[in-house]
Amino acid sequence: PKRGIRSSRILERRRQRGSEWGQLDEPALGVELPAEWREALSAAYDGLGNAGVKVLLATYVESSAEHAARVASLPVAGVHLDLVRAPQQIDAWRAALPAHAVLSAGVIDGRNIWRADLGGIVESLQGLHAEFGERLWIAPSCSLLYVPVSLDAEQKLDADLKSWLAFATEKLDEVATLALALREPAAAKAKLAAARLALDARRHSGAVVNALVQKRVAAVSAAMAQRQSPFAERNRVQREALGLPLLPTTTIGSFPQTASIRQARAAYKRGELRALDYLQRMRAEIALAVRKQEELGLDVLVHGEAERNDMVEYFGEQLWGYAFTENGWVQSYGSRCVKPPIIYGDVYRPEPMTVETTRYAQSLTQRVMKGMLTGPVTMLQWSFVRDDQPRATTALQLALEIRDEVVDLEKAGIRIIQIDEPAFREGLPLRRADWPAYLEWATRVFRISAAGVADQTQIHTHMCYSEFNDILPSIAAMDADVITIETSRSAMKLLDGFGAFAYPNEIGPGVYDIHSPRVPGTEAMQRLLERACEVIPAERLWVNPDCGLKTRGWPETEAALTNMVQAAKALRVKLAARQVDEITA
Ligand code: GLN
Ligand code: ZN
Repeated sequence: PKRGIRSSRILERRRQRGSEWGQLDEPALGVELPAEWREALSAAYDGLGNAGVKVLLATYVESSAEHAARVASLPVAGVHLDLVRAPQQIDAWRAALPAHAVLSAGVIDGRNIWRADLGGIVESLQGLHAEFGERLWIAPSCSLLYVPVSLDAEQKLDADLKSWLAFATEKLDEVATLALALREPAAAKAKLAAARLALDARRHSGAVVNALVQKRVAAVSAAMAQRQSPFAERNRVQREALGLPLLPTTTIGSFPQTASIRQARAAYKRGELRALDYLQRMRAEIALAVRKQEELGLDVLVHGEAERNDMVEYFGEQLWGYAFTENGWVQSYGSRCVKPPIIYGDVYRPEPMTVETTRYAQSLTQRVMKGMLTGPVTMLQWSFVRDDQPRATTALQLALEIRDEVVDLEKAGIRIIQIDEPAFREGLPLRRADWPAYLEWATRVFRISAAGVADQTQIHTHMCYSEFNDILPSIAAMDADVITIETSRSAMKLLDGFGAFAYPNEIGPGVYDIHSPRVPGTEAMQRLLERACEVIPAERLWVNPDCGLKTRGWPETEAALTNMVQAAKALRVKLAARQVDEITA
């Protein structure tokens, strides 16, 4: 209710400035709300009727049908519905809305970049138009902050692909065309025909379908999602094969992306550095990272990811079915922006992506070199995904190609392979009821990507900044031999959930936060590790930072890792002494 009063003041000010309408976003109405919340809605909105501004209550992403009757009784002048993600809710709203209410129909997908089937949408809106007349508004399904600004900024995009796309500006044009088509059908004819043509071209394009991929997808068997043996058996052979100490130390993959790395990449992109020279520069960076890790005394090394601009883009650039924009930026969070690639067709790996680099890195050291890949769920989550087949199918295609890469790395003599899935949790649908279906296919595609190797090849996965406790069964179902997670900022609290659930496989709880240049002390990290040992047996614990180190500089990285290795060594000694005590006692 207090919030309601504040909103009412804001609306009041809007009115003074001449606004007729004020929109209040309530995407929360799309999730299952407890009874108190539902009741609070009435109390909160009660005061808003007096502000003198008409309130448009906007819901999106999920269906808000279950709140239709309550919302209809509130002093709101209209509602906005996401009819792209939840078209089925229209009937409930139609029945509930009072005769004067405006219905804002969100029919243009605000979360994806494909041109809409305008003709089909006009068709589906005829009934609503007849019923609501001027009270029917046409809108994007949600805010347009999820899509890039305009296709005008794209000069290099394939012309066909470009003709299938609509960014924010083009989507506004689609909205206007829909309104025109309802009011003056004849005037919109040409535009609807153009949209139809683009849609047909996309549907029948040879660039979208790849027969090889289709065949593979059709041949996927249940066995492909299972490692050869259960974890306990794999664990035994891996211990023998790898010969690692108790509490093995490792890192999450990337090492500092220094100015020299970024300069080399920029020069290469501008055409000022030849491919071979660029390769040499990257190899030099890899050699540097390997040497430093040996000096630091880490047990399991990584090549450092110098050659990767971004963990999704790097792989997308080597896969068929992926396209890249020049200026397709969208906000990620705060002032951070990302440029998601576009999956427009069947995903196919024409040749190995990381084998040469990883093999080179392994050739520089006697220690175990961990191969580094991005997982199918993260590749999907951080891209714009085609909308002409289920997301799960696209994820499966990605998984099959990653699986081949994993097997190729194994053939090249790489004994540990990490498949990163930092976006695993953010793929969860908003509604709890939809969680099981997502978790089912997401864990399955991960297992398919990982399960092509022999028992003695150790599969790691990494997730950061996630809440895990409510999805632990699924994390366990992924069946990675080792999972590394972020835990340092919560002082290992996250691990309690893993302990209570009796998570069966090995875990590397991050012992220091990589988001700050602060160098953590040895004792602090040792204390965190001792806490971890109370929850997870030391035999199943790894020692590593929270995440990759690409945003850090070398001096702080070396200092922090020196202390981390020191902490692991100190605890090994302490645990061994404790064991001796127990035996003699
Ligand atoms: N391997 C990646 C890195 O170290 C993982 C990044 C991530 O988890 N977001 O940079
Ligand atoms: Zn991470």
